[in-house]
Amino acid sequence: MVKVDVKYTKLFINNEWVDAVSKKTFPTINPQNETVIVQVAEADKTDVDLAVAAAKKAFHRYSEWRTMDASQRGLLMLKLADLMESQARYLAELETLDCGKPVKVAEGEVYFSASVLRYYAGKADKILGNTIPADGEVLSMTLKEPVGVCGQIIPWNYPIPMMSWKISPALAAGCTIVLKPAEQTPLTALAVAALIKEAGFPPGVVNVLPGYGPTAGAAITHHPDVDKVAFTGSTEVGRMILGAASVANLKRVTLELGGKSPLVVFNDADGKYLGMIDIFGPVQSIFKFETFDEAVDRANDTNYGLGAGVITNDITTAMAFARHVRAGSVWINIYDHVTSQTPFGGFKDSGMGRELGEEGINNYLEVKTITMSLPKRPLL
Ligand code: NAD
Repeated sequence: MVKVDVKYTKLFINNEWVDAVSKKTFPTINPQNETVIVQVAEADKTDVDLAVAAAKKAFHRYSEWRTMDASQRGLLMLKLADLMESQARYLAELETLDCGKPVKVAEGEVYFSASVLRYYAGKADKILGNTIPADGEVLSMTLKEPVGVCGQIIPWNYPIPMMSWKISPALAAGCTIVLKPAEQTPLTALAVAALIKEAGFPPGVVNVLPGYGPTAGAAITHHPDVDKVAFTGSTEVGRMILGAASVANLKRVTLELGGKSPLVVFNDADGKYLGMIDIFGPVQSIFKFETFDEAVDRANDTNYGLGAGVITNDITTAMAFARHVRAGSVWINIYDHVTSQTPFGGFKDSGMGRELGEEGINNYLEVKTITMSLPKRPLL
């Protein structure tokens, strides 16, 4: 069985491994046999204050991180991706121990997570503004600047990818981070934190605080020095986070929430699928439909809108369905295909904002418009 390094069961603040100020710990449980794997330091508001202060310092305008070339940020991210891949088996076994998913699946998630880091590493020095033909005797331009200190709160079911989806665009943009893994699965986020330090990120750029939602999580979302919160989890908690953000300081919020994603099979689809249902079925509740509009109306008859799928050999039907279904991702003759290049997120109660792809980095950038007086004729 994979060995847990007890050093990496503490809080990771300012590139140091520290106990919680309260000295409290909580057990993380092996879901396979429900035994305690190890005790993990339990962050609460006091520790969040320390981590946010470290992240704020690392975001100071003259800090090592803020004055680093954007291309160098990208190089650090590439190094981290390499380190994660070099430890893919270890990270996967740790994930299996803590989260219960098959080790092969967890290993695939490590490689996917490294690909997300690499995608955004390439973007670090390609964050471009515009020059704008504004009215008047002026020259206007936009600068895209990092949003600041980012709180990132992730769920138990995909710990490594969720961490990577969140830290990658934030680091490329030049933000600093306080990340809280889910209380059920804190171990791999801490193991990745060790690699972040090894890769050479300056102190305070990434801080990782295991702890519970109503204490550590809420302290992050209420913190006045946290400029943005990115959250993946349940719709119920997402609502609380939006509320907390609006009370504290109108921090920016992105939410990736639950889904109830339909898969519509038209009657011209490959018979293969019915065969699969015959072998394994019933795989899930299946409703028959008569018309295209009936299928679309039913697919949209939910408060959620994360994903939707359609199976048909008719491209016109497929594209019409894709146009009319209210979901953030639509898959045609394929399902749940998510890559670092393609934006992912929900309509309606499935959240707000997008992660991954070109759109994913916009959530970590503020747009600043600069306008200077520029007479149309030279004065001299
Ligand atoms: P959860 O909402 O219970 O917890 C998610 C995170 O929020 C955890 O880290 C938790 O500690 C924290 N949290 C809880 N209460 C909080 C509070 N008051 N303030 C701040 N943080 C708080 O969800 P979960 O059970 O860990 O994850 C499963 C959910 O995540 C499912 O609903 C699933 O659909 C959703 N999910 C969505 C996506 C997506 O991409 N849209 C991906 C994975 C999971």
